[in-house]
Amino acid sequence: MTFEDFPHEASSQLPGVSFLAMRQVIFRQAERSSLRIIEDVDQRLTVETAHGLIGLRSCEGSDATAYVAAADEHWLFMMKNAVIRQMQHLMPDTASDMRWSSGPQAGSLPPNFAFLEVRDVAPLGAVFLRLTLKCEGLDTHGDHSIHFRFVLPPEGETPEWPTVAPNGSTKWPDGPGAPHKPVYTTRYIDQGAGTLVTDVFIHDGGRITTWAQTLMNGGRNRRVVGLVGPAGGGLLHAQRVLMAADETGFPAAARLLENMEPGVTGMVLLEAENGADCAYPIEVPEGITLCWLSRSKGESLGQSTEALLPEYEGATLWFAGERAQAASLREKARAAGWDKSQMRISGFWTQ
Ligand SMILES: Cc1cc2nc3c(=O)[nH]c(=O)nc-3n(C[C@H](O)[C@H](O)[C@H](O)COP(=O)(O)OP(=O)(O)OC[C@H]3O[C@@H](n4cnc5c(N)ncnc54)[C@H](O)[C@@H]3O)c2cc1C
Repeated sequence: MTFEDFPHEASSQLPGVSFLAMRQVIFRQAERSSLRIIEDVDQRLTVETAHGLIGLRSCEGSDATAYVAAADEHWLFMMKNAVIRQMQHLMPDTASDMRWSSGPQAGSLPPNFAFLEVRDVAPLGAVFLRLTLKCEGLDTHGDHSIHFRFVLPPEGETPEWPTVAPNGSTKWPDGPGAPHKPVYTTRYIDQGAGTLVTDVFIHDGGRITTWAQTLMNGGRNRRVVGLVGPAGGGLLHAQRVLMAADETGFPAAARLLENMEPGVTGMVLLEAENGADCAYPIEVPEGITLCWLSRSKGESLGQSTEALLPEYEGATLWFAGERAQAASLREKARAAGWDKSQMRISGFWTQ
């Protein structure tokens, strides 16, 4: 990747922040996140991330300036959000004073927000609902980033949607109409039809579950809700994998598995209440062994994955499940010498 790949740019002064101090912070962050530094000369520091460039600039004697670049306005907005999130931890006052050289107007809907209309809800296997959603602006969704957020207003309240804050970040409403905004996986996209398909695991107390079931049973309210995305990681490029997921990760695992590189080998563990009886449709490449685990028989996704770490040393580890299990696996894998670049371990839900 070079600067030409990211023609959309913006910068914002960081009042009172010195270039040298901030340079150290970015260096540490880049190291922690295994990001490549592509430029570090003459008061210019630039780091490459999965979706664009983040950097720091300075002129003699002036405050530091934050810099972001991306392939389009959508990802540029995401890069600004990433910078502001970091700044909020380090220097909250500076973060709220930031003003970008270009970008959407404060108060407008964020560029990564779209309204979606539910076109269809149908059962999928024993424990999922498949939703087909009609949505504008799906051209930014693709294999590089396969998740999104539902933006679901509470039942019976006037909906409140996110807006662009003066510092260029996303401002989420916090009034009575504030939306629920869980992350889901895009299973399929039909760019021609402008539709996105997502699979919802049916679980007790789930607000998305209740909403989708109500629509399936003929409910008319909240058929149009919001989406923010795309978000999160993309396809897995690896020759040997150890993958593990509970139901929340089945749609992501299914999408990754059907787009694997030729010749890939490894193992995928899938945990459901009654294992394969959940009948979630999933196709696995020839070189990968699929193993179903049943919670009802006391089988545990986290423990089973941890037990396989020695056998799969050197492979790519992908895990999507309960947050505490993810944290435990991350710790065990690190202790066993797995490198960060070999692991994509995520908590998809919290017990
Ligand atoms: C990157 C990413 C991708 C995801 N993709 C998908 C997807 O494609 N399909 C999907 O179904 N989920 C997916 N999830 C998980 C989903 O976001 C969470 O399960 C979320 O909590 C669902 O919101 P809700 O409105 O159903 O439940 P909420 O209203 O947020 O939660 C209600 C209660 O349900 C509990 N709960 C949440 N998830 C589960 C669960 N799996 N089992 C038992 N109890 C649960 C919560 O702890 C809470 O007590 C994904 C998560 C991430 C981070």
